[in-house]
Amino acid sequence: MKLYNYLSKKVEEFKPIVDGKVGMYTCGPTVYDYVHIGNWRTFVFEDVLKKALTFDGYKVNHVMNITDIDDKIIKRARDESLELRDLTAKYERAFFEDLEKLNILRANEYPRATENITTMIRIIVVLLDKGFAYKADDGVYFSVEKFPDYGKLSGLEKRQLKKGARINDDLYDKESWSDFALWKNKKDREPSWPAPFGEGRPGWHIECSAMSMEALGEHFDIHCGGVDLLFPHHENEIAQSEAATGKKFVNFWLEGEHLLVDGQKMSKSLGNIYTLSDVIKKGLPAGRQGFEPLALRYLFLTAHYRSKLNFTWESLEAAQNALSNLRDQIATWDDPKIGCAGLENDFKNAVNNDLDMPRAIAIMWETVKSDNPTSAKHRSILVMDEVLGLGLGEIKKAVLPKGAKELIDEREELRKAGNFEESDKIREELLEMGVVIEDTFEGSKWKVIKNE
Ligand code: AMP
Ligand code: ZN
Repeated sequence: MKLYNYLSKKVEEFKPIVDGKVGMYTCGPTVYDYVHIGNWRTFVFEDVLKKALTFDGYKVNHVMNITDIDDKIIKRARDESLELRDLTAKYERAFFEDLEKLNILRANEYPRATENITTMIRIIVVLLDKGFAYKADDGVYFSVEKFPDYGKLSGLEKRQLKKGARINDDLYDKESWSDFALWKNKKDREPSWPAPFGEGRPGWHIECSAMSMEALGEHFDIHCGGVDLLFPHHENEIAQSEAATGKKFVNFWLEGEHLLVDGQKMSKSLGNIYTLSDVIKKGLPAGRQGFEPLALRYLFLTAHYRSKLNFTWESLEAAQNALSNLRDQIATWDDPKIGCAGLENDFKNAVNNDLDMPRAIAIMWETVKSDNPTSAKHRSILVMDEVLGLGLGEIKKAVLPKGAKELIDEREELRKAGNFEESDKIREELLEMGVVIEDTFEGSKWKVIKNE
């Protein structure tokens, strides 16, 4: 499998550290509100990556953190007069419910920041001992100047070094770089933990270094997140981890591009967000049911993960139509037997080419439209769905009413012979039986709209 590695800024052949196994860490949600569909775009991309690796025969050990302590969470809990855990538990639950609806596989572990404070403290102690960190009035800071490789992931050319400046806030400045907080000293009405360097709470970045290394070891294969995390979050993770261990932290860094709305990043701070519930509730024209979560998944698959995707309701409607159409066709197929090897191979090549899912989707449709026996197409589509994750294995077979199959065949013969008057009559007859016929370039398709 070839993957674009942000560390080398090149597409590279993926090689795991241990044969046949992959250790993969993905930055998880900050649970102070509902996760929005921009976040879901990143989580779906990571799910596709994991499914693709599994498809290639790797055993993937996937770890995703739950950020249940940071500035935003503390502020929200205070504003709503809630205990921190009551607030985070609610949104954590909602996160897992949505995850399932989008057919995202669960990670092997979901460590919570608040349950891994001792691991974070241990790393900070090492960083202080080694001279990479120092104590200031309000906490412990990482000194970026002490780590010569700082910037190797994000490239700092376009950013200014704010010498002597320190960042304590989790909401950071993207234009400059400076020392960042590993630990924030205890403040009034804030949760805190005892530590050898003073009571307080962790900064945001140290959380991911600690939990990833705890679960996957000091050196592991893949680390992912959305591209907004490239700087400073992932850059800081590298600095803290490598300074502490003296080893390379992660081999492959993959960053998913953003979901936009009207050309702007979907984000809580801009107030242009939609949640999965908004998507489900949004009615389609002509009084149809709201969108399915899997239509959103389908939409995400139509764009490459390294390209921005502008979200519109029209594009979601097109994705919903495509998915419904796909299901309708599969429902009319014979049971799966031997698949179409060539098309399956093309599909695999597309996926292995840095997750070229738009191409993979095109091959999936090529398979659907091909004149291979439906039993073969059916098998191949199920194979492809191991990566796509569109739930195509759960489609109920459509059962034609008695006599309908004969009428469909008869009509097909009439059409071939150019007898459209008679074939139209049969179409009407089928419609009365609850079978809709649609004539396409690839031949006639049927769909059962009511069962007798
Ligand atoms: P957060 O809960 O804000 O830490 O974000 C969780 C994940 O969603 C991170 O990997 C972010 O990079 C990613 N993310 C945030 N906004 C967007 C967006 N508009 N499009 C795609 N990914 C996003
Ligand atoms: Zn992270």
